[in-house]
Amino acid sequence: MVKRTAVAPEEQPFILSSLPPGRAQRRLALAVVLALLVAFLITEVGPLSTIQLGRIDAFVPAYATAMLVNDSITAVLLFAQFSILRSPALLAISSGYLFTALMLIPWMLTFPGVFAPGGLLGAGLQSTTWIYILWHAGFPVFVIAYGLLKDDPARRLRQGSVGAAILASVATTAAVVCAATFLVTAGDALLPRISLDPVRFSTLWLYYAGCLDLLSVLALIVLWIRRRSVLDLWLMVVMCAYVIEITLIAFPVPARFSFGWYAGRIFGFLSGSLLLFVLLYEITTLYAGVLRAVLAQGREREARLMTGDAVSASIAHEIKQPLTGMITNADAGLRWLERSMPDEAKAAFEQIVADGHRAAAVIESIRAIFKKDSRNRTSLDINQLIGEALALTRGDLQRHRIQVQAELNAQVPQVRGDRIQMQQVLLNLITNAIDSMAAKDGPRVLCVRSEVHDGGTIIVSVADTGTGIGSQDLERLFNPLFTTKPGGMGMGLSISRSIIEAHDGRLWAVPNNPEGAVFQFMLAADGATSAGASRREQPDDLLTSSRL
Ligand code: ADP
Repeated sequence: MVKRTAVAPEEQPFILSSLPPGRAQRRLALAVVLALLVAFLITEVGPLSTIQLGRIDAFVPAYATAMLVNDSITAVLLFAQFSILRSPALLAISSGYLFTALMLIPWMLTFPGVFAPGGLLGAGLQSTTWIYILWHAGFPVFVIAYGLLKDDPARRLRQGSVGAAILASVATTAAVVCAATFLVTAGDALLPRISLDPVRFSTLWLYYAGCLDLLSVLALIVLWIRRRSVLDLWLMVVMCAYVIEITLIAFPVPARFSFGWYAGRIFGFLSGSLLLFVLLYEITTLYAGVLRAVLAQGREREARLMTGDAVSASIAHEIKQPLTGMITNADAGLRWLERSMPDEAKAAFEQIVADGHRAAAVIESIRAIFKKDSRNRTSLDINQLIGEALALTRGDLQRHRIQVQAELNAQVPQVRGDRIQMQQVLLNLITNAIDSMAAKDGPRVLCVRSEVHDGGTIIVSVADTGTGIGSQDLERLFNPLFTTKPGGMGMGLSISRSIIEAHDGRLWAVPNNPEGAVFQFMLAADGATSAGASRREQPDDLLTSSRL
């Protein structure tokens, strides 16, 4: 069974009976009313009005069945809204629709000539007409009750009493319909004579129809005064259709099976279906909205998890280098101590302290990347940073017998950035270049170059003669967790690109000539416009001109 949850008042705007109608909705409702009026005038004023069409046997059962289905579904949908909002006003209007659905049964059964010449249930000549009158008087009363009960949150029912309230209302409505049917069938002889025969009505019918119209107009006025929601708007349209239907059936030809009588039935069917269509449309729209919200929530959660994964993977990746440095220096320090060489041991321990500080700074700067924190930015000398990065990786470079070429342009202006983050980028690119060359025999040359373009854009290239990059991987390399190395994490390039882009720059890779890869990044000089923005339209000339 579906479990329904009570909705807090602040969530109610998402429910049809409390959702305010939009401009388009109001215009549509007005258009429907105008169309109904035009159809009414054509039927009522023109020559069509006096035409007597004759009896169509299947019409009454078909019409009554269709109406019964429509009104029952509308009642169920409104009861469902009541169970969420627990407003007695909604209970009243749901009961109103249930009432019209149930009244259709005796109306159809007692209709002369449908199931029996004089109608079933012991009906007399007046029974069907009086069922119609009670039916069309009853519904506006439910609408007026709805209008008067709405907008009062103090009247909301307690959570536990919703089921009982629905049961009680269904039982009462059914009892009222049964009692009304009994009265008009058993008391047929006592009722005022409206039907002259199974087809024609007396002029009395005009007065009764006039009263029914007045009651519907009264319901319309109550709704108009207290209108707030989409439901109010469409109930007003329904009441307009009701007034038109009653008028058509009584005027100008007070007889069954006249053109006006059939037209009145169609208006009745329209008024019955209108709210159902609107309810179904609104429910589908709201359902689509809920679906979109759920999907968006899922995506957001995924993104958050990915960020969490990325943060932990980044910390693990970036911390590896200072940790390795600490272990190497600690080993060296111990060996120096064993050989009683305190000065060398002291230098190794000082190196451990420096590595420890760098590890702490790396963690802090990773948090800064994810928090998009730019507080630690200072003016940096990129050539000095390159020198430091090469010094930090000297051990690896020597171990793999890699020849280093530093082509640093002394004219390169300062850049504004986070020192630790920039160092991470250079270390990542140099470490990757070392890994790539270590995996391959042949000449091993690392070339780090700094250049200045147009006076305001700085390009740094890290070129190697390693394995190179397949064209299909040129962009994938920068995806988080993409790696081709057995012990790789696939975070270095993704972090590096995030850092460079956070500094309004760009980082990309191209193949080196004749072999290997070149990683390049561009940054704006301190005080100049962003490199990423200023050069984005023409990167190709830069890419080729700086290829090594
Ligand atoms: P990891 O180094 O942990 O694999 P990275 O994000 O730094 O993560 O690199 C992702 C992948 O990009 C590497 O696994 C490698 O396949 C490729 N790559 C990075 N730098 C180079 C390079 N200089 N030459 C060839 N391939 C490279």
